[in-house]
Amino acid sequence: MLIQEHSRTGRRATAQAPLHAPAVADIPAALRRRTRPPLPEVSEMQAVRHYTRLSQQNFSIDTHVYPLGSCTMKYNPRACNSLAMLSGFGGRHPLAPETHGQGVLACLFELQEILKTVTGMQAVSLTPAAGAQGEFAGVAMIRAYHQARGDYARTEMLVPDAAHGTNPASAVMCGFTVREIPTGPDGDVDLAALRAAVGPHTAGIMLTNPSTVGVFDRNIQAIAHAVHEVGGLLYYDGANLNAILGQVRPGDMGFDVIHMNLHKTFSTPHGGGGPGAGPVGVSQRLEPYLPVPLVACENNHYRWLTESDRPASIGRLTAFGGNIGILLRAYVYARLIGREGMGRVAEFATLNANYLLARLQAAGFEAAYPTRRASHEFIITLKREAREFGVNTMDIAKRLLDYGYHAPTTYFPLLVPECLLIEPTETESKDDLDGFIAALTAIRSEAQTHPERVRSAPHSLPVRRLDDVRAARQLDLAWTPNANTETEINATHG
Ligand SMILES: *Cc1c(COP(=O)(O)O)cnc(C)c1O
Repeated sequence: MLIQEHSRTGRRATAQAPLHAPAVADIPAALRRRTRPPLPEVSEMQAVRHYTRLSQQNFSIDTHVYPLGSCTMKYNPRACNSLAMLSGFGGRHPLAPETHGQGVLACLFELQEILKTVTGMQAVSLTPAAGAQGEFAGVAMIRAYHQARGDYARTEMLVPDAAHGTNPASAVMCGFTVREIPTGPDGDVDLAALRAAVGPHTAGIMLTNPSTVGVFDRNIQAIAHAVHEVGGLLYYDGANLNAILGQVRPGDMGFDVIHMNLHKTFSTPHGGGGPGAGPVGVSQRLEPYLPVPLVACENNHYRWLTESDRPASIGRLTAFGGNIGILLRAYVYARLIGREGMGRVAEFATLNANYLLARLQAAGFEAAYPTRRASHEFIITLKREAREFGVNTMDIAKRLLDYGYHAPTTYFPLLVPECLLIEPTETESKDDLDGFIAALTAIRSEAQTHPERVRSAPHSLPVRRLDDVRAARQLDLAWTPNANTETEINATHG
């Protein structure tokens, strides 16, 4: 039910804060609206109940274990939120002069420095608004680098078949042809195939390490060498940075450019499409091309570096400085946990993943890469369950919701059939992991004895299975007021 549908003419909630703005601003009469906006007329209690009920119809990290692989749905300390929302930050106008924003610029500058240290890169630009936009920026910098050297033959971007879909999309948007590199049976990039693919046409490779199959590529140095040797550059998709935080650094692995998904690794509630932040980091040779603006510190004064400071920049990707609220959350998080805390994030994320993997294997589930240790996530394949019980991965994922667990990532990466990509994160307790294991195990025996119950799940949620195709093809989100919700504004309000 929409809040508008609770509306009754004349019903009101009183404003409990004093009104600061004059009731009618200084707007010429001709430009003022003649009808009231169709706002819902509800009591305060109706509004509270409505939104509280809505919030409870969703799964969220605040209410449920949420082991969505590749997404790092971990607990976001409340302090990050409340400090980022201080009125000195939130109330600042983006066009206010630098002299009036030294505090926020200092935070952003320090965040650039922290991210440089964490990743081992030479310079960082905070402005991209998401991982995918960071990828676009990174690939655009690779293109700018080759073109600045007059090297126009490099038309191919190498992308492993395990990669996130945004990787090939970013490469194509920057005008490259994507060349797919297969993954070997043990989860590492197929080195022989890579060596056969590189050449004078190679602009670079886009790698996620640990990869989306949940293993750390043991040949990373050989990969870096093979690509650099032919003049290509290495792009690091930082979505899985949580696994290596404070342990190893992409810069030390030989990467030239990286993005970080701050909303995954550095504490921002996410899911449902944003908001996020995808800062990019580069090695020395790509620094001139970084997106602007960046924050510089000169004689204890902070200022924005813009196109005039960085004439070779690939340009601007977002309005003003990017999603500042998300950057501030990341800054607070980094300061809260500190250098030691970063290392513990990766240790416990990896420990939790390997505990879960071992227990699930013992319960009879099949690991996709049984010879490998998990990074912070891992894949189980349910192809045996699909074959023997006629119950597929989507059925099991939907049944998990009835048990009170958000499903892991399903059917990604595409190269593993009937897969669940599971990422518990460092913030789940052993008790909660045990609960998740018990739920999956119970569903597996249900699949044996009552497969129909699993196939028709979920049974306990406000909505059952959605028609994904219809939702995509005939999406209708528009609410149309009926005629009597608009009332004429009378003369005294005019
Ligand atoms: C999430 C993710 C991305 C894209 O990041 P967004 O911030 O969602 O745009 C890219 N690669 C991998 C491996 C991811 O998990």
